Amino acid sequence: MVLNRLWLLATRNRGKVAEMAPLLAGYGVQLRTLADLDLPSPEENGRSFLENALLKARAGFEATGLPTLAEDSGLCVPALGGAPGIHSARFAGEDADDAANNRLLLERMSGLLGAERAAHYHCCMVLLRRADDPEPLVAQGLWSGSIADEPLGTGGFGYDPIFIPHGDLLTAAQMGPEIKGKRSHRAMALRSLVGLLAALYPAQPLSLKA
Ligand code: IMP
Repeated sequence: MVLNRLWLLATRNRGKVAEMAPLLAGYGVQLRTLADLDLPSPEENGRSFLENALLKARAGFEATGLPTLAEDSGLCVPALGGAPGIHSARFAGEDADDAANNRLLLERMSGLLGAERAAHYHCCMVLLRRADDPEPLVAQGLWSGSIADEPLGTGGFGYDPIFIPHGDLLTAAQMGPEIKGKRSHRAMALRSLVGLLAALYPAQPLSLKA
C-alpha cells in the first residue's frame, strides 16, 4: 500500500496548525485543515485524550476520504486531580478564551507551592489511513513542567504563558517557536508517529528534507 502524502489535519485550532504544519511540511506531507475545507469540529465526548483523538480522526476521514491526522491535547495538573485535562480548551466555560482559562487555573492553584505546582502537557495523535483501518497509528507525547505564578510571554497559545518546562526559567510563551517545535508534547508525538510510519512503509519513509 502506498502512503498518500495529502492529509487532513482534523483541527480548527490555529495554534496547533501553526505548530504542526511546518513540521509535517518538513516531512513532505501536505495538509488541509477543517477550516480550509469549511468543516465543523465534531463533539468531543470521549473520556480520554485517546478517545477524543480517534473520534476526531474518524469524523475527519468520513467527511473527506483523506488520510486524517487528529490530535487531542491538554494540560494536566496532578494536584488538581489531572484537571483541566481533556477539558483544557473549555476549562473556564464553553466560550472561554485562553486568558480566561489561564486565570481560572491560577486561581485554583493559589496557595499551592513547589512540587504541588507540577504539570504536564499531554498529546495523543491518531493517523487513520482508511475508513476501516484496522491499525490507526497512535502516538503520544508528554512535556513536563510547572505552573508559573503569573502569565509571562506572548508566543504559543493556550496555557503557554503560565507553563514553565522542566529545567527552564522561561515560560513556553517566552521561548521561540523553533524551541517549542523541538521540545513540546506535540513534537514528541509527531516524531513517534513518523517512526511508526517508517516501520510500516520502509520503502517510502517520511524523512526530513535537508
Ligand atoms: P483540544 O483542541 O480539545 O485538543 O484542546 C486543546 C487545548 O489544550 C488547547 O485549547 C489548550 O488549552 C491546551 N493545549 C494543548 N496543547 C497546548 C500547547 O502546546 N500549549 C498551550 N496549551 C495547549
